[in-house]
Amino acid sequence: TREVHLAQRPTGRPTAETFALVEADLPELAEGQVLVRTTAMSVDPYMRPRMNDVKSYVPPFQLGAPLDGGAVGEVMASRSPDRSVGDVVLHGLGWREHAVVDAVRTTRVDTSLAPAQAYLGALGMPGLTAYVGLTAVAELAEGDRVFVSGAAGAVGSLAVQMARLLGASQVVGSAGSAAKVTRLRELGVDAAFDYHDGPVAEQLAAAAPEGIDLYFDNVGGEHLEAAIASARQGGRIALCGAISQYDAAEARGPRNMFSAIGKGLTLRGFIVGTYAHLQPEFAQRMAGWLADGSIQTDETVVHGLENAPDAFIGMLGGQNTGKMIVALG
Ligand code: NDP
Repeated sequence: TREVHLAQRPTGRPTAETFALVEADLPELAEGQVLVRTTAMSVDPYMRPRMNDVKSYVPPFQLGAPLDGGAVGEVMASRSPDRSVGDVVLHGLGWREHAVVDAVRTTRVDTSLAPAQAYLGALGMPGLTAYVGLTAVAELAEGDRVFVSGAAGAVGSLAVQMARLLGASQVVGSAGSAAKVTRLRELGVDAAFDYHDGPVAEQLAAAAPEGIDLYFDNVGGEHLEAAIASARQGGRIALCGAISQYDAAEARGPRNMFSAIGKGLTLRGFIVGTYAHLQPEFAQRMAGWLADGSIQTDETVVHGLENAPDAFIGMLGGQNTGKMIVALG
């Protein structure tokens, strides 16, 4: 079987040299384990900071060892009474064609609701992130004017649609290309802009002339500064991600933080795992939204484990619309 290892710690944007495609032997199944043939794996922004040798909320990837991450696949062999051959499961050992994993660390997924890979996107971690960021973290209230950055990505494209369904009166999104801006309009945002077209603060002020009550931050840096500038009194900011800063040697913070004082802003960071208790509520609502067509899901699919590094690098560079997925044979 084949797996992808971390060959070098990247400085700045990862390159092909960051990764190594390695032939490996599968270990024997121990009691309680299953063998999964992975059919799709996720590449996610948080994997970039994990390539640095720094302490964070998840331990760094180890050099010369396989990367890991969300994946779905089919159980090929089982030494657990709880999993049968043929079960379709979500697990955490992506970046390899086969995974030997403890059955308790797998979750069976319902493929009658959506294809398995939807559990890496809309029905999975990105979907829950959008949901808890808007609700539990930023406390979206009826009538809020909402701004979402990274709005055409996995989390963002769900957040803009959910914001509307949860009562926002105006939804503004930013993304990195004209095609993504067009897609955002199709998804029902009131205004969208390409952040390359001019200063974010100016474009946001033009898109939301009356200001914003809630900002869902996927990007950090200049976007966060612009959102603070456009925030209304009592505004709430969910700090979800800061992708503009992940490759940076020296991160840039908002220079106008002092204005959060007078405006009484709340800036709250969060990690989706902390909100796992909202998973059942989220799963039920999301299933309803998907079933009645109120939420549309976009995916960009790259084929083959050997192309997973390119998919990851491409995702960091904005080549995905919606969730970036690597489909394995
Ligand atoms: P996306 O699908 O949004 O993919 C990443 C996108 O980031 C790219 O498509 C690109 O789109 C955009 N991007 C890259 N560089 C920049 C830049 N310099 N400025 C602005 N945009 C940039 O990824 P996810 O939806 O999986 O994740 C979105 C964010 O949410 C990330 O910051 C991630 O770390 C965070 N996250 C946080 C979680 C948590 O628990 N707090 C959980 C999951 C995700 P474009 O073309 O628009 O530039």
